[in-house]
Amino acid sequence: MTVHELTLHELHDRLRSRELSAVGLAEALFDRIEATDGAIGAYLAVCREQGMEDARRADAQLATGDADSKLLGIPVALKDVLLTEGVPTTCASKILKGFTPPYDGTAVRRLREAGAVLLGKTNMDEFAMGSSTENSGYSITRNPWNPDHVPGGSSGGSAAAVAAGQCVAALGTDTGGSIRQPASFCGIVGLKPTYGRVSRYGVVAYASSLDQVGPMTRDVTDCALVLQAIAGHDAADSTSVDAPVPDYAAALTGDVKGLHIGVPKEYFAAGLQPEVERAARQAIAELEKAGAVVTEVSLPRNDYAVAAYYVIAAAEASSNLARYDGMRYGPRAEAEDLTSTYMKSRAQGFGHEVKRRIMLGTYVLSAGYYDAYYLKAQKVRTLLKQDMEAVLEDCDAIVAPTCPTTAFKVDEMTHDPLQMYLSDILTISVNLAGLPALSVPCGFDDAGLPIGLQIIGKHFDEATVLRLGYAYEQATEWHTRRPEI
Ligand code: GLN
Repeated sequence: MTVHELTLHELHDRLRSRELSAVGLAEALFDRIEATDGAIGAYLAVCREQGMEDARRADAQLATGDADSKLLGIPVALKDVLLTEGVPTTCASKILKGFTPPYDGTAVRRLREAGAVLLGKTNMDEFAMGSSTENSGYSITRNPWNPDHVPGGSSGGSAAAVAAGQCVAALGTDTGGSIRQPASFCGIVGLKPTYGRVSRYGVVAYASSLDQVGPMTRDVTDCALVLQAIAGHDAADSTSVDAPVPDYAAALTGDVKGLHIGVPKEYFAAGLQPEVERAARQAIAELEKAGAVVTEVSLPRNDYAVAAYYVIAAAEASSNLARYDGMRYGPRAEAEDLTSTYMKSRAQGFGHEVKRRIMLGTYVLSAGYYDAYYLKAQKVRTLLKQDMEAVLEDCDAIVAPTCPTTAFKVDEMTHDPLQMYLSDILTISVNLAGLPALSVPCGFDDAGLPIGLQIIGKHFDEATVLRLGYAYEQATEWHTRRPEI
């Protein structure tokens, strides 16, 4: 295996033994990006100069023998929704073109403090609205397993970069599935932590009650290591929770004997691609073989999740995106007066999907419709959360496919936004309930596209979710496959 195919923990060992230098590793990955990103389009910005400086600093520290941080010298990529000091952050929107943040988001700062090397910022759906990365205001990203297919979204650039060996690990954000779905489509591991586990400070807000930052990696061990670095309370984010952060690597025991797993029958309903159903059922059988106790459970109101989510997320987005007025960040349109400057800047700066969400969100929040839509959606959210919590009272985790299908074709869904929304059916209840959920590779369809298994846990119990994912990974070899590019 060449360096771009190795996992974070494997690279850590080589860096530590000085078999490999951080500078050599960073150089290899920058070269890899240069050689392959024309075909993939995972990156919006590559910061070679800054990254090489990070790498030299890591080597200096490694030379002193102080190499306890697992992330020291590890090259990472960041979804362009995360603020990075001195590195442009656009959220893949034209309205933020040329914006360079004056500070790092907390998750970014923690990665830097752990010694990670920043390679660049990855493509995404504009303001994280979408499931295919086709809503980027700049360019599309292609699936490393087959360039005719999308990588998923909205963290599609991060997922493609990890899968294509263009970084070792990446961060994404997940509001309705945007870490898990692209992880599933690209054959990598992705974790949406519990709402409140990771600080949202310095993350451009889409839907603030749902957004969460999380790791995207090649295997579950790497996922645990990155989560360890970014998790924990942050005084700068009042929604981050001051709960103890366990040792996640210690949770990877390989032993799942006696763990209770619920399999929701509604998640295997019509519309599931047959290969996805087969792979998920086989994965569940594998966990059972390892000693987990499997029972069928019911999430009876899951059918309402998509409708509730798209009301709540749009409402929050319409409010969050009011700040892009052409005055404070990004380009300003020329117009006669203040109001028309706002209107023209927003009309030019936002893409179609973002405008659609702002209009929807403004509508459901407007007087006269608030009770009928927004308030109703909030009530449905409570019911969905109660359903999940009721199941998790008897089970340690819920296991199901991450997505109903494998990666769809580029352009296949762009003209049917509703169809695109419906593809989130298996991921969004998790966000509405604030729960942690992991996607791990569990097979391939007949066309050779990856399939993901979703493991949903109790609030703040990422450890059990990772433990199950790790045990599954140990019993299979899906996570060791790499696409040919
Ligand atoms: N596809 C969903 C949406 O468009 C989820 C996106 C996300 O998780 N950021 O809102």
